[in-house]
Amino acid sequence: MWVKTIVVLPYLPTTDDLLEWELSDVAKSTGDLKNSYHVFDDEIDYILEFIESGRPRNKRRHSKLTKIHHRLEGVNCPICLVDFRENQKEIRYDWDLRSVEHIISLDFGGVTNEANSILICRSCNIAFSDMIRGLLPIRVTIHGDGRIGGKKKKGDSKRKRIRTPKQISSMPNDWKERIYKQYLFQRIVVHSVPLVKRDLPDLWNDFWENKLKQIEVSNRMMIKNNPDYIPTEPDFSRLDIL
Ligand SMILES: [Zn+2]
Repeated sequence: MWVKTIVVLPYLPTTDDLLEWELSDVAKSTGDLKNSYHVFDDEIDYILEFIESGRPRNKRRHSKLTKIHHRLEGVNCPICLVDFRENQKEIRYDWDLRSVEHIISLDFGGVTNEANSILICRSCNIAFSDMIRGLLPIRVTIHGDGRIGGKKKKGDSKRKRIRTPKQISSMPNDWKERIYKQYLFQRIVVHSVPLVKRDLPDLWNDFWENKLKQIEVSNRMMIKNNPDYIPTEPDFSRLDIL
């Protein structure tokens, strides 16, 4: 059976949108957020429907991702403003590496293409993933022969990793609201830090906790590989974090 997949691409906010958001009242509830940021409704509906359906996520396409990485332009992380470090075709873990983020993540039904990609630094990228981890149950492997979990069989093209209907039905009652806020946070923070600080302050704090932790982890990994490694000293003074 061939199932047609509908792919929704992320809406690109205009300067008018940003102006309108800045002039709107502080969001005190999810209802307020939905009113102010309604331009993201289509993609949010798509994401929630995708998660609820239990469909497997799209494959990570490394070669395509590399091409996109080369094509996208940008010298600073739009969130933490650090100058990107380029990795000269070697494997590195620096917190300030230039990295491609799927705007609608693969886990939310996104695809690897340029319209769904944005450059952010590695530690901001991982901070997003760390925020999402725990929001959704971990996928289980369903093998071609019907087994759930256990050893992989070579050449099993029917193997897929999904969330089972049982896993999905036992997610906490507020999962849609939490996914909604997380997604909205990620969409807005790359355009305006003041807006997320104003309208999604809890997520902003959570993001920074994760990001600072990730900087430490990255530095430790790099020093383990090369004791002479000197990490980039974070300077977020322009950001006004708190
Ligand atoms: Zn960053």
